[in-house]
Amino acid sequence: MRGAKTQGSNNRRRATARLARHHTHVAARRRHFLHEVSTRLVNTHDRLVLEDLNTAGMLANRHLSRAISDAGWGEFARLVSYKQQWRGGQVLFADRWFPSSRMCSRCGTRNRILTLADRVFACDCGHRLDRDLNAAINLAAWGEKHHQTQAREPEARAPVINVRRRDGAGPHSGVGETVPDDAETDTLTTSVAVV
Ligand SMILES: [Zn+2]
Repeated sequence: MRGAKTQGSNNRRRATARLARHHTHVAARRRHFLHEVSTRLVNTHDRLVLEDLNTAGMLANRHLSRAISDAGWGEFARLVSYKQQWRGGQVLFADRWFPSSRMCSRCGTRNRILTLADRVFACDCGHRLDRDLNAAINLAAWGEKHHQTQAREPEARAPVINVRRRDGAGPHSGVGETVPDDAETDTLTTSVAVV
């Protein structure tokens, strides 16, 4: 009896240790990935636009919560910010009410029926494109317009890139793999100091 019990507890201990190693491994891999991507982005772009996220709000949505907390988006924003600062580049944080996902990047009309499931943005004006690309274009335009008010550095000359939580952010970005899905940005409310 005692033998079996001890055996069971040893097994459990081993399983726990294995799981802990697994978590450590996953965390290390994620950190490495975030470092790699953020370094690549700041090395190739003088200006980056990060989009605000209502992380707290999204965490309340259990479908998104797991993915968001796994994504390390806040950590990514932090890395990009300080690395860009080292380089003397710019990081702009899009206004938290900015409807990047819902606005047509061609005519500016709001698409009010867009849902998270819609991967393609379609407007009455006939404009049709990947939803993340549409949002990225909107953010690029936003960055162009606002960089003078937010910037401390002289105007950057490099192209603007938009960092979205999902892939499709632009030709240079592979950031999105860390992130779950596009949220309804225009309804999000959290500050982005560190997102
Ligand atoms: Zn349109």
